[in-house]
Amino acid sequence: MRRSLFEDVHEDFRASFRTFLEREVIGEEGRYGEWERRGIIPREVFALAGRGGFLGMAVPDAYGGAGAEDFRLNLVIGEESQHAGVGSFSLGITLHNDICLPYFLRYCDEPQRRRWLPGIASGELITALAMTEPGIGSDLAAIATSARREGDHYLVNGAKTFITNGINADLVIVAVKTGAGGHQDRHRGISLLVLERGMDGFERGRNLEKIGQHAQDTAELSFTDVRVPVENLLGGEGEGFLYLVSNLPQERLSIAASAVAAAEAALAWTLEYVRERKAFGQAIGSFQASRFTLAELHGETQIARAFVDRCAQALNDAELTPEDAATAKWWCTDLQGRVVDRCLQLFGGYGYMLEYPIARAFADARVTRIYGGANEIMKEIVGRSMGL
Ligand SMILES: Cc1cc2nc3c(=O)[nH]c(=O)nc-3n(C[C@H](O)[C@H](O)[C@H](O)COP(=O)(O)OP(=O)(O)OC[C@H]3O[C@@H](n4cnc5c(N)ncnc54)[C@H](O)[C@@H]3O)c2cc1C
Repeated sequence: MRRSLFEDVHEDFRASFRTFLEREVIGEEGRYGEWERRGIIPREVFALAGRGGFLGMAVPDAYGGAGAEDFRLNLVIGEESQHAGVGSFSLGITLHNDICLPYFLRYCDEPQRRRWLPGIASGELITALAMTEPGIGSDLAAIATSARREGDHYLVNGAKTFITNGINADLVIVAVKTGAGGHQDRHRGISLLVLERGMDGFERGRNLEKIGQHAQDTAELSFTDVRVPVENLLGGEGEGFLYLVSNLPQERLSIAASAVAAAEAALAWTLEYVRERKAFGQAIGSFQASRFTLAELHGETQIARAFVDRCAQALNDAELTPEDAATAKWWCTDLQGRVVDRCLQLFGGYGYMLEYPIARAFADARVTRIYGGANEIMKEIVGRSMGL
């Protein structure tokens, strides 16, 4: 089905990002595969992306960005990465642009904008968002990392885990407890502090070994008496939970959109394969069972695409609701799981071999139902919005 979401400017952006992927990420010598083996994207890739105009597109031009607050550009990056067999979250750019940047754009005061936005747009400052802790994930309001005000500093103590870009990040938005937050209003005690590379007592733990998304550095972070200047508080003290709730819909839409693009990519690889591969004297794709499978997956993916495109328009119009974003996230990531699994089956034994993109896509897909808020939590959000 023809999509009506994009204009010429997005297609031009798509073409230049595709060239960037081919030249700087995939490379003739299979650079991305090497990063997957090493478990991290080299920092220079962010600088190259910045130079190409693929970072911080929404940063105002006065601070080194393109001043283009248009989520369709972010969608293009996610789609092209997935279609090239490079997980968009594995690359780290999507987390930087779609998930972290909005906090800096919305809540930085003028001095913070001058300090951080140019580096975020150029790729010199890589960002991460740290909410999850070893003991707390879904129940965000129960985080334990504390920030006690002492004069012009906060003293931060605690630990975070599973943090994407955790090794590479220079600026980490950390959700902390600045107030006791009584049982009646436990959300009010949360604030967002920006911790910077090199602060005393801010340590990075292991780069965690994952089932998939191997090129993404996912790390544990620990904070021991880290003195963080009050100038590093994002927005108002005690407003952090509200900020997280208002920004999570964009994060969830970004994950949903990447999931649909991953499903499209899996379908394209599979169609090519089943046309070539023969069994019992005929192409695998000509068996009715294969046709039914592919027809179902194609249809479901198109329907998901239509919903995600509509959500992207709503986000651009500042109308995307938390429940629509949650619906997109749970449904599209469930779909991604179904599509990569059933496509892998059509590859037979080759589908289990990591040299085939479908095998890596299968491993990469599993986490999308967990991160960004587990799918069960998404259904809680939708259910509550229905008055249940
Ligand atoms: C690769 C990766 C990257 C990540 N990147 C980041 C990052 O950059 N920043 C960050 O802050 N976090 C990140 N996370 C953490 C991620 O967001 C959490 O893992 C996720 O929110 C789930 O939290 P949890 O792991 O503590 O699971 P838990 O909260 O312990 O949940 C375990 C299970 O219980 C279910 N459950 C919990 N509560 C309920 C309920 N009320 N009703 C029904 N079921 C429930 C969950 O759905 C889940 O299935 C990442 C995780 C991974 C694996």
